[in-house]
Amino acid sequence: KPIVLSGCQPSGELTIGNYLGALRQWVNMQDSHECYYMLVDQHAITVRPKAEDLRKATLDGLALYLACGVDPEQSTIFIQSHVPEHSQLSWVLNCYTQMGELNRMTQYKDKSQKSEANMNSGLFTYPVLMAADILLYGADKVPVGDDQKQHLELARDIATRFNNLHGEVFTIPDPYIPEFGARIMSLQEPTKKMSKSDNNPANFIGLLEEPKKIAKKIKRAMTDSDEQARIYFNIEEKPGVSNLLSLLSCTTGQSVESLVPGYEDKMYGHLKGDVADAVVALLEPIQEKFHQYRQDQAYLNQVMSQGAEKASARASKILTSVYDAIGFIAKP
Ligand code: ATP
Ligand code: MG
Repeated sequence: KPIVLSGCQPSGELTIGNYLGALRQWVNMQDSHECYYMLVDQHAITVRPKAEDLRKATLDGLALYLACGVDPEQSTIFIQSHVPEHSQLSWVLNCYTQMGELNRMTQYKDKSQKSEANMNSGLFTYPVLMAADILLYGADKVPVGDDQKQHLELARDIATRFNNLHGEVFTIPDPYIPEFGARIMSLQEPTKKMSKSDNNPANFIGLLEEPKKIAKKIKRAMTDSDEQARIYFNIEEKPGVSNLLSLLSCTTGQSVESLVPGYEDKMYGHLKGDVADAVVALLEPIQEKFHQYRQDQAYLNQVMSQGAEKASARASKILTSVYDAIGFIAKP
């Protein structure tokens, strides 16, 4: 079976964007692929969260993976910091990555602009750790949202460079970006992507939010001041309305083209009401399962330890071949 690897940062509550862009694909790939799904706590510390917040977000994230249908019997689910090979390979790959390549990463530019007070080098080398995450498992496919395309290309470039110098050590990974839902936009600023770490909570829909709160956020979503208030899909002219139509399409499974005619004489309020209903219907069963898993710490512990063991078993093999290829002497 082809190998799949992906992860989310425990940098806040997972959003509907994370679900539609990533998690939903993870679940669908479990039967036909050998899957590795992690919570990347080492990535999350690039913004230096409070320890207690990171701990909570990691356990919430784990319970959410399970609630969304990621199955620990089928897939390997683990916490990144439980598998030391990630940081070990990351160091090696740092030495195979050019400063100029990292300078071109748009996420680094965005995130460092957002917090000029904390421009640490972890934020800068984040894509190298991400390349290590992927290459460590020999992943063939990486299911991610559209925003991770650039980081994936870098992972491919690093792997190719390494292979050219040292032989075929790494598998070159392909991004797997869904056709729909790969870029859910912010509710208040629909020209930028929805992000769980957004400072303004009105911009995102958390998977664990109360239905009433979700409905309120969607009702207040930015549309536009077009006097005719027509409802149609055009990302340039109508970013807010188009995002609502995408959300409705992704949550109901109906195509945007088939939805639009139904709103010909309707107002934005109608569309928003329908989006809220569809999102809540999707999330309610997930929330219910989440609460069951989250209370069962013994089960979460079992998932984490079993996952870390399986992940390490695979990762350590690839790390050993990397160390050998570059000339590190094996411990006698
Ligand atoms: P942060 O703001 O902390 O970076 P995030 O919401 O961007 O959080 P990540 O943990 O960075 O979430 O990404 C997890 C996965 O979710 C990745 O595969 C990413 O491409 C995907 N993803 C993130 N945001 C969106 C979005 N708005 N639409 C679709 N997919 C998304
Ligand atoms: Mg992100």
